[in-house]
Amino acid sequence: MKHKYSFSFNEGDGKNKKLLGGKGANLCEMTQLGLNVPPGFVITTQTCINYLEFRVLPVDLMEEVRLQIQKLETLTGKYFGGSSDPLLVSVRSGSAVSMPGMMDTILNLGLNKTTLAALIELTDDSRFAYDAYRRFIQLFGKVALGIDDEKFDKHFEAVKRNAGIKADVALSSDHLQEISELFLNVVYEETARPFPEDVYDQLEIAIKAVFNSWEGRRALDYRKEFHITPDIANGTAVNIVTMVFGNMGDDCATGVGFTRNPATGENEMYGEYLVNAQGEDVVAGIRTPKPVQEMRKEMPEQYRQLQELRNKLEAHYQEVQDYEYTIERGVLYCLQTRNGKMNAVAMVKSSIDMVTEGLINKSQALLRINPEVLEQLLHPQLQPNHHVKPIAQGLPASPGAACGICVFDADSAVRMAKADNDVILLREETKPEDIHGFFAAQGILTSRGGKTSHAAVVARGMGKACVAGAEDIKVDVHKRQAIVGDIHIKEGDLITLDGSTGNIYLGRIPTVAAVFSEELKTLLAWADSTARLRVHANVDTPETARLAASYGAKGIGLCRTERMFNASDRLPLVVDMILARNTEEREAALAKLFPIQRDDFQQLFEAMSPNSVTVRLLDPPMHEFLPHEHQLLEEIEVLKQYLTTVKGMQVTLDTLKNHTELPAPFDQLSVELILKAIAKKEMMLIKVMELYEVNPMLGHRGVRLGMSYPEIYKMQIRSVLEAAARCLKQRLPIEPEIMVPQVITAQELKKVKQYVDEIRIEVEEQYRLKLNFKFGTMIETVRACTRADKLAEIAHFFSFGTNDLTQAVFSFSREDAENKFLPLYEESGLLEDNPFETLDILGLGKLMKMAIELGRSQRPDLKIGICGEHGGHPRSIRFCHNIGLDYVSCSAPRIPVARLAAAHAKLLEDKPL
Ligand code: PEP
Ligand code: MG
Repeated sequence: MKHKYSFSFNEGDGKNKKLLGGKGANLCEMTQLGLNVPPGFVITTQTCINYLEFRVLPVDLMEEVRLQIQKLETLTGKYFGGSSDPLLVSVRSGSAVSMPGMMDTILNLGLNKTTLAALIELTDDSRFAYDAYRRFIQLFGKVALGIDDEKFDKHFEAVKRNAGIKADVALSSDHLQEISELFLNVVYEETARPFPEDVYDQLEIAIKAVFNSWEGRRALDYRKEFHITPDIANGTAVNIVTMVFGNMGDDCATGVGFTRNPATGENEMYGEYLVNAQGEDVVAGIRTPKPVQEMRKEMPEQYRQLQELRNKLEAHYQEVQDYEYTIERGVLYCLQTRNGKMNAVAMVKSSIDMVTEGLINKSQALLRINPEVLEQLLHPQLQPNHHVKPIAQGLPASPGAACGICVFDADSAVRMAKADNDVILLREETKPEDIHGFFAAQGILTSRGGKTSHAAVVARGMGKACVAGAEDIKVDVHKRQAIVGDIHIKEGDLITLDGSTGNIYLGRIPTVAAVFSEELKTLLAWADSTARLRVHANVDTPETARLAASYGAKGIGLCRTERMFNASDRLPLVVDMILARNTEEREAALAKLFPIQRDDFQQLFEAMSPNSVTVRLLDPPMHEFLPHEHQLLEEIEVLKQYLTTVKGMQVTLDTLKNHTELPAPFDQLSVELILKAIAKKEMMLIKVMELYEVNPMLGHRGVRLGMSYPEIYKMQIRSVLEAAARCLKQRLPIEPEIMVPQVITAQELKKVKQYVDEIRIEVEEQYRLKLNFKFGTMIETVRACTRADKLAEIAHFFSFGTNDLTQAVFSFSREDAENKFLPLYEESGLLEDNPFETLDILGLGKLMKMAIELGRSQRPDLKIGICGEHGGHPRSIRFCHNIGLDYVSCSAPRIPVARLAAAHAKLLEDKPL
C-alpha cells in the first residue's frame, strides 16, 4: 500500500497523538465531535522524522498535499491560489507533547499578487487584505526564510513614525500597502530571490520550516529542561488549516480561553479576546486584550456559543482545556484545544472540584497532576503584613513570591544567574526566544500583555512567579532601565514580585513558608489511601521532623546523626573526641556528647510519634569535623606572630615601668594562653595529617569507624536506646530503628549487633522496661547487594542508600561527574539521565532487585526502603513500587511530591515504566 503522510480532520484518529501531534489529534477529534473547526489536514510526525534524517521531503508528499488541498477546496468552495475566492491556510506545528510557543506557525499562506487582488475584491476591504499580506510576508520571511524580525520591524516602525501614528490599528490601507512592498524588498535583499509567488512553493517551504523548527534552539532547550526524550515526542506534525479571520471588522474577534481559571482553579469562564484582531495578537501580548466577561455584553450570541464550546470541551476531554478561537463575521470557530497548563494550586483545586462535580473519579483526579508540580505549593509567599507599598501593579499571572535583581534580556538573565544571583526578568513583553531567560529567572515581569500572554502561560507552566501587563512600568531595554513614575529601576536593582496579587515592590520583602490548603490535604489523603508505598522523611532535627510530619511524612527514614554533630555547641566536643590520644580520653569526650545526642533523639521520637524513626550511626570520615590543613597552618602562623607581639609588649612594659605609669594589659597568662592555643592547633594539624586519605569517600568511614572506634557507636546506640526508654516511661508510642551505614559484610553487622545487645540489656535494667526497636542496615555498597541474604540474617530492615550505591555502580563520584563530564554525557545521549537524580533502573535497578530477592529469601518480612535522593523522584518511586519496596524516604519539601508519586505508582503498576 502507498505510504500515507497525511490525514484530513474528519478521518484522523483523535487518540493518536504520537502520529498526529497533540494539536492535530485534537483538531481531528473536535471535527468528528461536530464542533465548528475550520477544515484542514495533518501531516504526520513520522513524515517529520523521515524528513529530518536527510532534510528532504518524501518524493510523493507534495502530490498527496495537493490532493488534500483539493479536498479543502471542495469543502470550502475556495481555491488555493485562485483569482476569485482564494483559499488561505495556516501552517502550524504540533508535537505529541505540548510545547507552547516553542515551534513555528505561519498564517495567511496562499497570498500572492493574484490572491491579494482577489481578496481585495472579495472583501472590498483593501486595508484588511494588505494587513493580512504584510503579516504573511513577515512571518514567512522569519520562519521559513530565516530573516530577522528586526529587518521588518524597522520599516514598520519607520512608516508609523513618518505618518505620526502610535497604534497599529490607525494604519491606513495605503500605509499597509507601502509596508507590504517594503517587506517584499526585505525578502529580496536578504535572500537574493523574490518572494515566492507560487502558492504550492510557499506551502512546501513552510512545511519544511515547521519540520526544521523541531530542531531549533528554543525547542531543543525546552525538551532538555522538561526531560522530553525523543521517544516521548518524536517530531512535529504539520497542521494545514483553512484560515478564518478575526480581523475583518467589528463582528470579528479572536481569543483564547481556559475552561477554568488556571491561576486559582475556580470553575468559571476565563480568557481574553480582542475584537477585530488576528490570531497571534492575543498570545503575543502586543495589544492588551479584554476579559472574556465583556463579551457577554459586546457579543452576547457569540458569548453563548463560547460557553457551549467550553462545556462541550471539558465534558469530552474530562480535563481542563486551553482553547483558541476566532469569530469571523459572527461565526465562532475553534482553532485548537489542549490540556490546560495550570499552576499547582489550580491543578489541585480543579481535581477536587471535578470529582465533586462527577466529571472524573478520584484515580483520574490523582493521575492528572504531575507530582513534581506539588513542590510549587511549598514556594514561599510574601510575609502577610509587611507594610511595604508596591511601586506598581500588574496582572497576577502566576502565583508565588520572587525576589531578585532586575535584568532586561534573557541572555543577561542566564549570565547573572550563573554568577549566583537570583534574577527577575523584566521585559516589555516576552517571546518564545526568551525561554532560556525564564529557566534562569526566579520571576518574570512584563509591562504589556494579559493573563494569557506568552509570559503568563510559560511562567505558569514552570511554576515561576509572574506579573504581566504592569502598564505603569516603562521599559527601556537600550538604557537598561525601567521607569515607574519618578522611580528609576536599573539593571542590578533588587525588586520583589508577588505573582498572587500582581504587586511589584522595590527591594527585598521577607517571605514565609506556604501553608497546605484544605484541597491539597484532601488530594494527598486520597493519594495515601491509594498508594502502597509509605513516605518517610530524611530529616535530622526536631524542627525539620515536625515540618516533615506536617507535610505528611509517616516516619523518618534517615536521620544523619553527623548533622547533629555540626551545631556550634557540639563541634568542640566532637573535635575533642577526635583529638583524643587514647580510648579513655575519647570516652571522656563522648560522655559529654552522650546527653546531647540522647535529648536530640528523644525530641525526634516525640516529633514523629507513633511513627518509626531510623537513626543512622556515624557515617562520614572523621576529618570532615576538623578544619582543613591549610587553614590550620595559617592559624598557627597568626598565633605565632601574636605571641611575638605579646612578648614585645611585655618587654616594653618591663622596660618602662619604673619611669612611667602604664597599664599592664598583657601578663604571663596571655602568653600561656597563646601557647596553649598553638599546641591545640598543632595537635589538630597532626590529626588532620594522620587522618589524610587519598579517597576519603571510599576510605575510613561508615561502619568501619564503628569497627575502629567502638566507643563512638556505643555512645550513639546508648543515646538512641535511652531516648527510647525515656519516651516509653512517658507512655509515648514510638518505633525506633538503628541503622548501620556502608556495610559490606555480615561480620560487621554482627559486631554492631553485639554492641546493641549488650547496651540494650543495660538500658532495660536501668529503666526497668523492655525495649522494642529494629536493627537494620543501609544497602549502599555493591557487596552488600550481593550478600543481602547473609545481611538479612541479622538485619530487620534494609534501606537503599542510592546516593552512594550510584557512585559505586558507576565508579565515578557525583561531584566530579556533575562538574566535569556528566552534562556532556547527557547532552550527547551517552547517558539518558543524570543517574544521581533519576534512578538508573537498567544497571543499579538490577542490583536492587537482586538484593531484595536475596534479602527476602532469608527473611520474608524484611522491611525495605530507600533513603537516597531518588526516594523523592517520581519515576524512581514508580520503580521502587514495582520492585516491592515498603517505603521511600526523601527530604521534607519532596514529601507531597512523593506521596502523589506513590499513588501514581500504584495506579500505573500495570503500565510500562
Ligand atoms: C546514600 O548514600 O544514599 C545515603 C542516603 O547516604 P548519604 O547521602 O548520607 O551518603
Ligand atoms: Mg550514603
